[in-house]
Amino acid sequence: MSAALPLYITSPSVPTEAELSALLRTALESRRLSNAGPLNHQLKLRLSEMLKVPHLALTSNGTAAIEVVARALEFHGKVITTPFTFPATAAALIWTGATPVFVDVEEDFLTIDPNAVEQAMDESVSGILGVHVYGNPCDVVRLDAISKKHRIRLAYDGAHAFGTTYDNVDISRYGDATTFSFHATKIFTTAEGGAICVNSPELHRKIELLSNFGIESEDSVADIGINAKMSEIHAAFGLANLLHYHDDLEQRREIRKCYDEAFANLKGISTLGDRPGISNRLQYYVIRVRDGKRDSVQSDLKSSGVFARRYFYPLLSDIKAYRQVCPSASNPFPNATRAAAEVLALPLSASMKKEDALRVARIIKTSIT
Ligand SMILES: *Cc1c(COP(=O)(O)O)cnc(C)c1O
Repeated sequence: MSAALPLYITSPSVPTEAELSALLRTALESRRLSNAGPLNHQLKLRLSEMLKVPHLALTSNGTAAIEVVARALEFHGKVITTPFTFPATAAALIWTGATPVFVDVEEDFLTIDPNAVEQAMDESVSGILGVHVYGNPCDVVRLDAISKKHRIRLAYDGAHAFGTTYDNVDISRYGDATTFSFHATKIFTTAEGGAICVNSPELHRKIELLSNFGIESEDSVADIGINAKMSEIHAAFGLANLLHYHDDLEQRREIRKCYDEAFANLKGISTLGDRPGISNRLQYYVIRVRDGKRDSVQSDLKSSGVFARRYFYPLLSDIKAYRQVCPSASNPFPNATRAAAEVLALPLSASMKKEDALRVARIIKTSIT
């Protein structure tokens, strides 16, 4: 048997050189490299059509997108969120002056638990920031009811949920605002980049304003913004990548199916289910390894050149820097704590073959038996 190539958790989708240079030519010839150029406009249009969303703003990355949303929704004081996420979620809140209040997640989907959100609610809470973990949407219906009842704003970090629909509409139609990340590790990538989707035209205008220093016109600065703009180079990369997007999704679907079959009825391993009513959950393939064997499975995979990730571990509430500024971090989070000890994200990308997935599954089977 020949030595197999290493497999990483993700492998970015890239356009061909010809596809990219055809799009880059626009920017090079016009010398328009940023500030709402034609490629930006084109990508915005294509993505809004694809997702069927009314308002989409492009950003320099997914973290800046959350920061802009936090400012646009006037988050201040406490904002309820989850400790089971990537650091950017809570960091963006802290960077914009809010204090994250961590609450536990639901056992089945690892998204923020609406009951826990209700319990954490008090006068100084100004918003909720849910995370659609691994592309599984939060309980958007209950969170919507909670935010309306308490008259606070509701935003989602949808970095894992690009293209996911719930009840046949794009996931970003729920809540006041949803952010996406187009980082190289994400399902649709512009190398670095992101987007913000909202339903309200006024909020969209505010987001565009805040992303561009608050500059309204040549002689008017209407707000204190930041620079969260996507460059024309990144927009070109995104437009070129869109040429392969649907084929990429199909390939990811194949790999997911392969894993699903391999792990069905495998003792000691459970796979993460889809929340009923959703489609296109293809960002990560995550298993839960029981009986304290997660780390040994990870290291057995590594010895065979398969680089799976303990995603998300550690919990944000267990990180010293967050504990210092978030009093809620010392609360117990039983579901999130168990998940952080059991989850393992396996390689999933459009460049993988079925044989790669079978090989990963074989190593895992051997490791746990
Ligand atoms: C990737 C990611 C982000 C950050 O996005 P960037 O584009 O890398 O800034 C935020 N939240 C979650 C859950 C992510 O996975």
